[in-house]
Amino acid sequence: MSKQRTKLVVGNWKMHGRLADNAVLLEAVAQGVRGLQGAVKVGVCVPHPYLAQTQALLAGSPVQWGSQDVSAHEQGAYTGEVAADMVAEFAATLAIVGHSERRGYHHESADVVGIKAERALAAGLTPIVCVGETLEQHEAGLAQQVVGGQLDAVLAKLSPADAARIVVAYEPVWAIGTGKSATAAQAQDVHAFLRARLAQKGAAVGAVTLLYGGSVKPENAQELFGQQDIDGGLIGGASLKAQDFLAICSAAAAAL
Ligand code: PEP
Repeated sequence: MSKQRTKLVVGNWKMHGRLADNAVLLEAVAQGVRGLQGAVKVGVCVPHPYLAQTQALLAGSPVQWGSQDVSAHEQGAYTGEVAADMVAEFAATLAIVGHSERRGYHHESADVVGIKAERALAAGLTPIVCVGETLEQHEAGLAQQVVGGQLDAVLAKLSPADAARIVVAYEPVWAIGTGKSATAAQAQDVHAFLRARLAQKGAAVGAVTLLYGGSVKPENAQELFGQQDIDGGLIGGASLKAQDFLAICSAAAAAL
């Protein structure tokens, strides 16, 4: 069983959703989470255009919401970008930064991810900093080296007080959307490594919430979340089905 840190489960909708479908999903999640009676913190990170709808439907519920990215810039001539302050205006509290799909498809460097984490914090958002190795790096035994470097680039930009406010999500790229999750033991190994690395910046930083992401499903969630250093999950595909997402949230409660 894991230590008694509060569990956190966050859905990453990626580029999915339409107003009508979102309404059904958000209402079901808000309703279902009430049954957990606060045992688990739950959030959803939605596409930017749906922040207003999400705010309207989740306000007053225990579910938090946020974005899947923020700009590295505060404001200005950056067409298509969305500033962290803009996200915060919708009463959002979360912002994913450094998702592997952004690092990969949009060539975001480790340095840019660090700046995005800073921007999110400055706007009062909790950055969920994603780190993870590719299949090639995994097979070459480089997982710790890669995730350590990605984490260091973020920590280098933050004071210990700010670093203690982040959430870190270990998401092996080879496990995202593939149906092939890391085993609980593999994930725990990397989480223990990340926690030790965080703790080098201070005890409070070592206690930050560490999520696992990559093909989490109702069937494997409890075993993953029961590991010593796994404080919950970042959930992609399964967060689009209320029943699966709520089952994963219940698994987090059962792993406490
Ligand atoms: C993700 O995109 O953050 C993710 C974990 O995706 P999936 O759960 O679909 O693997």
